[in-house]
Amino acid sequence: MTPSTDPKLAEDLLDDLEQIVWRLDVQGQVVYLNRRGSEYTGYECPGWAEDQAVHPPFTEHFHPDDHAALLERWQQVSERGEPLRFEARLRSKEGAYRWFSCYLAPREDPQGRGRVYTLSCTDIEERKAAEQALRESEARFRTLFAHAPAAILIADREGQLNEVNLAAEQLLGYPPGALWGKPLQALIRSEEIPRLEETLQRGGNSDPANLAEHRGDWELRRGDGSWVWAEVSSLILPDGRWLAFAHDVSERRRVASEREQLLVDVATERALIDRILETAPVGLCFLDTELRYQRVNEALAEMNGIPPEDHLGRRPREVLPQLAETLEPILQRVLEQGEAVLGLEVEGETPKAPGQVRSWLTSWYPVFRATGETLGIGAVVLEITERKKAEDALRQSEARLRALVEAQKRFVADASHELRAPLTAIQGNLEILRRFRHMKQADRQAALDEAAREAQRLARLVNDLLALARGDAGARLHLQPVGLRELLLEVFEEARHLADGHHLELGEVQDLWVQGHRDRLKQVLIILLDNAFKYTPPGGTIRLGLSEQGGRARIRLEDSGIGIAAEDLPYVFERFYRVDESRSQQSGGSGLGLSIAKWIVEQHGGEIWLQSQVGQGTTAFVELPARLDRS
Ligand code: ADP
Repeated sequence: MTPSTDPKLAEDLLDDLEQIVWRLDVQGQVVYLNRRGSEYTGYECPGWAEDQAVHPPFTEHFHPDDHAALLERWQQVSERGEPLRFEARLRSKEGAYRWFSCYLAPREDPQGRGRVYTLSCTDIEERKAAEQALRESEARFRTLFAHAPAAILIADREGQLNEVNLAAEQLLGYPPGALWGKPLQALIRSEEIPRLEETLQRGGNSDPANLAEHRGDWELRRGDGSWVWAEVSSLILPDGRWLAFAHDVSERRRVASEREQLLVDVATERALIDRILETAPVGLCFLDTELRYQRVNEALAEMNGIPPEDHLGRRPREVLPQLAETLEPILQRVLEQGEAVLGLEVEGETPKAPGQVRSWLTSWYPVFRATGETLGIGAVVLEITERKKAEDALRQSEARLRALVEAQKRFVADASHELRAPLTAIQGNLEILRRFRHMKQADRQAALDEAAREAQRLARLVNDLLALARGDAGARLHLQPVGLRELLLEVFEEARHLADGHHLELGEVQDLWVQGHRDRLKQVLIILLDNAFKYTPPGGTIRLGLSEQGGRARIRLEDSGIGIAAEDLPYVFERFYRVDESRSQQSGGSGLGLSIAKWIVEQHGGEIWLQSQVGQGTTAFVELPARLDRS
């Protein structure tokens, strides 16, 4: 006997089951319910073999919301004659519902009573609850995933994107869903593909705690073709997929790169400034608050004549002792008052050119930190020695020129005045002669004599002026050996007859030769003798001599005349200068004699000067470079 044919055994077996087992008749009415079923539903079944189907249909034991579905299943099974599995809520005797997995199978009644059905139900309430909880948590996770503020991308290990959230789509600028299925390789620079593949393959690490270990910056291509820098941290999910969190770090990278650029710029700028400082053609230096050189450029080192490095750490007084007295008080002031001293001219010597005074144009600036603290002094030094020399020379030549112009003006005024005097005298006398025809013979003679004298004076004046003009025009005298002794004696002889009660004496006359112009030297002697006669009253003594003095021939003409006051003496060689206008006029002097004499003597490379005392007399000296002989 098989178990299936022994109803009692079958019933016992069914009663031992954990599942609820129903037997339903062709209408779906319950004809059997096992023990577990009775215990659960509280429904006592009439028994496996009972024929009377007086019980309500099985659907009544299920949740009303499931009735329709149950009937549909029932229909399917009865029509197709095949079993079907479904889930439904079964009411307990307490009136609660639990989920059951139901298996409805059609069966031919072994006892030939047509089709019957077996419905076996397994309690799946716990699994369902777990499933529900899972579903809920999954839903929560999905929401979180979708709205997480960080971009999340999930890809398979080949790099194909399975899932991305909203933030990822926003980061990459794609419309919702457009990223799904895209390979990650298409989102990065091609040269980065090996790095991506290495990142994707770095499997085995599913511990989120190690997220930071798999972090790197990636440049990602956005939907519109632009690029965005993202920091990506990734891990391998338990299902083997690759999950990454990404966030935009463009700003951070921009700032970093700007800072880097700035550093580069600052470094370049500094190098540039250094180069400018080093090669600037002006002297530059920086001194600390102790006034020690911290920096000196080539130009300044060159000016000072000391290598740049020999300045460092030393004070100006150690490097340029000659300048220290001028400089250090100024530098102290710059430090103490915090004010620049600009355009200060400094003069002194440097080790480069001892004994030579050099000039610099300097400016000293206090240097401060942003905090206000004084760092030291920066200086700019420009050497102006040559410029100053040129300026001085220019100033001197300007002064000379001005003096010359002044002298010229005075000379022209004087000359016209001098010329006018004799002319007026001549004109006056001629007018007298013309008007007074019947004047006395003696008066007529006097007028004629005066006119003749003035004409002579005029002629002399014109001659003198011509001589000076020639000199001014740069005329040079042609020099040749001249025997001074012979010349002196000749002039002495000629002068004798000029003497007007004067004692003319000859002193020592050495035989000396000079390189000279005989006529001009004679003119000098005549001018001096003429003055001696003019300014020595009759009875006075005039003494002429010639001697050698230190390799030079010295002519000495001494008179015992009226002399010249000390205050006039420096001017007697100036043109038209006269000590006593009236006396000079009287004596017929033009005021040009001594200036002509001076010009001639200087042309000989000699010197002329007077010594005089009022009331005692005057001595004129002429010194000329002497030759030893006539050759
Ligand atoms: P001048 O033709 O007027 O003599 P000079 O140039 O020769 O002009 O001399 C300038 C001035 O110097 C004279 O006017 C005179 O006052 C003074 N001087 C020159 N020589 C003598 C002298 N030997 N004794 C006194 N005064 C003199």
